[in-house]
Amino acid sequence: MPTVTIDGQKVRIKKGLTVLDAAKKAGIWIPTLCYHPAVASEASCRLCMVELDRGDWRQLITACNYPVRQDIVVYVSSERAEKARRGVMELLLARAPESRELAALACRMGVEKTHYPSVTESQRNCILCGLCVSVCEQVIGRAAIGFAGRGAERTVAAPFRQASEDCIGCGACAAVCPVGTIKIRLHKDEREIEISPFKSRAKMVLCERCGMPMYSGQVSREAMSKVKIGRKAFTEYLRLCPKCRRTETAERFASVPVRRE
Ligand code: SF4
Repeated sequence: MPTVTIDGQKVRIKKGLTVLDAAKKAGIWIPTLCYHPAVASEASCRLCMVELDRGDWRQLITACNYPVRQDIVVYVSSERAEKARRGVMELLLARAPESRELAALACRMGVEKTHYPSVTESQRNCILCGLCVSVCEQVIGRAAIGFAGRGAERTVAAPFRQASEDCIGCGACAAVCPVGTIKIRLHKDEREIEISPFKSRAKMVLCERCGMPMYSGQVSREAMSKVKIGRKAFTEYLRLCPKCRRTETAERFASVPVRRE
C-alpha cells in the first residue's frame, strides 16, 4: 500500500484510491463540489486543487481524481494551493451568486465576495459541474440531460432544450446538484412533478388513502420491474404515503385481539 504524506501527515491507502480518499483518511478537509462517490470523478469544478511534490517542482493537481499509485507528498494547506482554490471559488461565485450552498462553502474557505462580473441571466446559477448529467446517465441510466452549446453559451439542458421524454422524474439530478439550481416542483392540480429548469414533467402516484402525491409513476414502475421476490407485498407497500402506512399499520394492530395466558 502506498503512503501519502499530506501536510506532513502520513496515511497508507489502497493503490488506485485518490488523494481525496487519502485526505479523508487523514481527517484533512478538501473542498469539493462536483465530486460524488456514486459516479466517476470528472474534476470539472477544480475546487479540490492541491499541490503535488514532484521533487524539484510542485504541480497543482485535482485531489478527487488523482490516483495514488506510489508514495507521494501533497500539500493541501500550502499558500499556492489555497490561493488556487480561492480563485476557483471566486469564479464559481460569479456563476452562481444566488446559491446559498455555494456561499456557505465560500465562507468556510474564507472567500467573502468575487471580483469577477456575474454571468448572463441564462447561464446564472449553474456552475457546469456536470454532476447531474453523470448521475442521470451512470446511476439512473436515462441520459435525459446533457451539455448543450459551447464556450460562454454552454449549459446543461434536455435535448433541443425541450422537455425530455427520457426523464422519469426521479429527482436524482436535483438531489446531487451542489448549488441547489435544479429544483423539484410539485403541480398538485395536474398531479405532476416538474424537474426545473429542464421543463420535464412526470405524472405522480397518489396515496390511496389521503390522496397526497407521492412519487413519479414511472419511477415506481421501474422500481417494480426490478423486484423479483415479494412483488405483491412490495406493490402493497407503495400504495400509501409513509404517514398513512403508519396509521394503517397501527389500526391493524389495534384490531387484533390481545391474547391472555
Ligand atoms: S429527474 Fe430526469 S433528468 Fe433528473 S436524474 Fe431523473 S431522469 Fe435524469
